[in-house]
Amino acid sequence: MYTQIKQELAPSGVRLIAVSKTKTNDQIMVLYNQGQRDFGENRVQEVVEKHDTLPKDIHWHLIGHLQTNKVKYIAPFISMVHSVDSLKLLAEIDKQAARNDRTIDCLLQFKIALEDTKYGLDLDTAHQLLTDPSFAALRHVRICGVMGMATFTEDTAQVKSEFEQLTRIFNTLKETYFASSSYFTERSMGMSDDYPLAVEAGSTMVRIGTLLFGSRS
Ligand SMILES: *Cc1c(COP(=O)(O)O)cnc(C)c1O
Repeated sequence: MYTQIKQELAPSGVRLIAVSKTKTNDQIMVLYNQGQRDFGENRVQEVVEKHDTLPKDIHWHLIGHLQTNKVKYIAPFISMVHSVDSLKLLAEIDKQAARNDRTIDCLLQFKIALEDTKYGLDLDTAHQLLTDPSFAALRHVRICGVMGMATFTEDTAQVKSEFEQLTRIFNTLKETYFASSSYFTERSMGMSDDYPLAVEAGSTMVRIGTLLFGSRS
């Protein structure tokens, strides 16, 4: 399945994040040995343990909700935080990145799904965040784009329109705030069930777990 997905993504240049939450080091090493280096986790403790015990050239992506008080544990090594949904969190990432003499790549997570359980910004709160004077003072985070999760539904038209909405949000923010940034390039969208729709709608990174590792119990 890994090779097939890689081949499918190759023409569009979309990056594959292998979502390894709940999976063992051995399972991760199977993909690692096929060349995979980007892995996604949604829990701090789990990604810390895996970072400690697996090869150091793995790029770890934090894709789940992140609590401010846990940023310090991942700041020494995390490659990208996909789930930034407040200025408070971003400021803490900046602070902990500075302590580690690093700059941490971040994505702004947007709520595009109908379900109200999912975390994320709307365009208004994003405008507030990006125009706040304390945002302009941050030196150790790099805003690289946006992330979103579509509604869990069979209705492909709905899912497609949500991904298209995220691409429009990306374009608006790019024009308004990041026109001169060479970093603001990423749309992290698409999971096992919906990634072809996400790629069609302009994804640059898909986050796939179940299709690569089998279902989680
Ligand atoms: C678990 C998870 C995924 C992967 O989901 P699959 O359906 O297993 O591909 C992607 N993104 C986030 C934020 C996740 O929590």
